[in-house]
Amino acid sequence: MPVHMRNLIAGNWIEASGRATFEIRDPATDEPVASVPLCGATEAVLAVDAAAEAAAGWRQRPALERSSIVRRWGDLVLAHTNELADVLTREQGKPLAEARGEIAYAASFLAGAADLAPHFGGDVIPGPAASKHIFVLRPPVGVVAAITPWNFPAAMITRKLGPALAVGCTAVVKPAEQAPLTGLALARLAGEAGVPAGVLNAITGDAAAIGRAWLGDARVRKLSFTGSTAVGRVLIRQAAEHITRLSLELGGLAPFVVFEDADLAAAVRGAMLAKFRNAGQTCICPNRFYVQRSIYEEFLGRLHHALGELRLGHGLDAGVTTGPLIDDDAVAKVRMHIADARDRGASLRKGGDFVRPSATLSGRFCTPTLLSGLTPEMAIAREETFGPVAAVGIFDDEAEAFALANASPYGLAAYAYTRDLARAMRAAEAIEAGIVGINDGGVSTAVAPFGGLKESGWGREGGRWALEAYTDVKYVSIA
Ligand code: NAP
Repeated sequence: MPVHMRNLIAGNWIEASGRATFEIRDPATDEPVASVPLCGATEAVLAVDAAAEAAAGWRQRPALERSSIVRRWGDLVLAHTNELADVLTREQGKPLAEARGEIAYAASFLAGAADLAPHFGGDVIPGPAASKHIFVLRPPVGVVAAITPWNFPAAMITRKLGPALAVGCTAVVKPAEQAPLTGLALARLAGEAGVPAGVLNAITGDAAAIGRAWLGDARVRKLSFTGSTAVGRVLIRQAAEHITRLSLELGGLAPFVVFEDADLAAAVRGAMLAKFRNAGQTCICPNRFYVQRSIYEEFLGRLHHALGELRLGHGLDAGVTTGPLIDDDAVAKVRMHIADARDRGASLRKGGDFVRPSATLSGRFCTPTLLSGLTPEMAIAREETFGPVAAVGIFDDEAEAFALANASPYGLAAYAYTRDLARAMRAAEAIEAGIVGINDGGVSTAVAPFGGLKESGWGREGGRWALEAYTDVKYVSIA
């Protein structure tokens, strides 16, 4: 039975003006899961009113007190893992085990921020004269807006709001339209943990209207956005109006380079984890595999075999490893990438179809796909695919591998497999990406600085870098 979940402003669970709503559907079945308010500019401004009103009280709370509330929020998130993971799977489609993993990952951003924030201060530096002292303070920036994507509906929210709240900011957040329910459930738990009314406000609805209202409001001092590079560009232009500072976690096109001296079993395990998790719908997914000529066929054979282990189905069903794509646009894009690659000479080694794994399921399930013969002009080598498709090309030497890896305007994640330490270090230095996994396909962790180079964005989330992102630098010179 679909439920209705309201939005949170100033501690009140509200409807949109005119009571407009929209429906969230399970991407695996197309069945309605819930409805949520269709908010716009009016509610966006009300949310900022609430966050601005709550700002002074929250920033004056001792850091230890704020941290203990954020920690309690993280504890409650963990305590509600089963309910949250169930909602997450229903609205987003990932298998339940992955959804549980995401809830733990989401909680780790709250615990991490709670650990670090009480120790996060400024500096005292020697002044330019004996009679002068310089203090560097790190005050919270103020009201923070957060706009998040559907592919990690829990973790992308806590990765922003944990550090923002812990350092003393107040926040307004808009989760993605396809998967807002987990975010609203997290907001409810924040209240239960003791986050005061107005410190965290969450609304759903018209993204463009809400984004414009927030960036048109000088009280919003920072926007933290995770999503596509195309929307990131729009937000950069809008942020010019009030010089709103931005953190942008944008799209990727990760290369996955396998050298002939690699541990091939480890490379295939890393490829499966990095590429096929969340049905290939992660920003750090490898989109382009480059394998050295002498091991090319062996790597393809091993990856082909590993793909046989994947099982399509509803994420709530036992044993399922691969859920549906999020919507019909996603299906169209993945179909286009497979067809374009084949038209341009790639060989389809496995998969390549869309199926309904059972009569009750939608046709948004892409069979795990392996393409060989990847070349640079193929769409899959140039744009994020966001589907369970591994496209593999050949290289002959290290210089060619690095050139292929860097032949992209994106630079979020990259992976390289080799047993040669010197080559590993050269790869780490040469490949233009904010995150480089050397013999590691699982690079997401709350303790590291997560973010991209080039058109993959600005700023870093995670660890102390996140605390820096939500604070100003102010120096005080005392003579
Ligand atoms: P998207 O279309 O850019 O949407 C992301 C968020 O922006 C959603 O909340 C969306 O709202 C909102 N939005 C859309 N148009 C907007 C506008 N004009 N003004 C303000 N907000 C707007 O991206 P997506 O398809 O949801 O997510 C997939 C993308 O996110 C991929 O490119 C992926 O690589 C990237 N991503 C990056 C990271 C990272 O850390 N770098 C992590 C995860 C995902 P609606 O949903 O309501 O339209």
